[in-house]
Amino acid sequence: MAFGNWLLANGQKLNMKILLATKNKNKIAEIRAIYQGIANLELLTVDEKPFSDVAEDGQTFRENALKKAKAICKETELAALAEDSGLEVEALGGQPGIYSARFAGEPTDDRKNNEKLLQRLKREPNRKARFHCSAVLALPDGREFLAEGTLEGRIASEPKGKSGFGYDPVFIPNGFSKTMAELGQETKDRISHRRRALERLRESLQTLCAGTNG
Ligand code: IMP
Repeated sequence: MAFGNWLLANGQKLNMKILLATKNKNKIAEIRAIYQGIANLELLTVDEKPFSDVAEDGQTFRENALKKAKAICKETELAALAEDSGLEVEALGGQPGIYSARFAGEPTDDRKNNEKLLQRLKREPNRKARFHCSAVLALPDGREFLAEGTLEGRIASEPKGKSGFGYDPVFIPNGFSKTMAELGQETKDRISHRRRALERLRESLQTLCAGTNG
């Protein structure tokens, strides 16, 4: 079956609909910004097509992203794009990693997560860290597309800035001297781990949207 290759009787092509398998408003805005301008692509959100929560119980970002994309694709019968992401800190052996959202417990509290991280790194000279993103597009015909992206940087000594979410106020990307939250959304959308992963999916997406991947 050819996804994206839907022609109306008058020859006009239908949009390829992809459901964003996340309820995080910040991520939805970032993904929209990254994929703006792809012809025949229509991004749907949980507001238009509700879906159930999927337990993130995998051992890796990749496993979690695959699980979410496949489960939500199956439930909604729509192509689903899921991503799992987080922060890996070298001096903490890669923590908080897949537990980034609930580092300081549940429900997720970004301020408490940042406080706990800075506390753990008090007097730690090695501030090296990276953001990681695994993104998966699952199609109703069983095809899966996976892409990953990372952004290297370091952990600041105190939170700064108001933009973004999560660990953005304490993460300084390599090549910059300000935190991601100070650099602002435009810079983030250009360099982020999410941008890098989603950019690697772009070609497959464009092919699907052009209806040439039948
Ligand atoms: P997820 O929603 O289960 O993928 O959890 C991702 C968690 O990782 C978030 O709650 C943040 O704590 C962190 N995270 C992922 N991406 C970013 C980002 O772009 N900036 C800051 N923190 C992030």
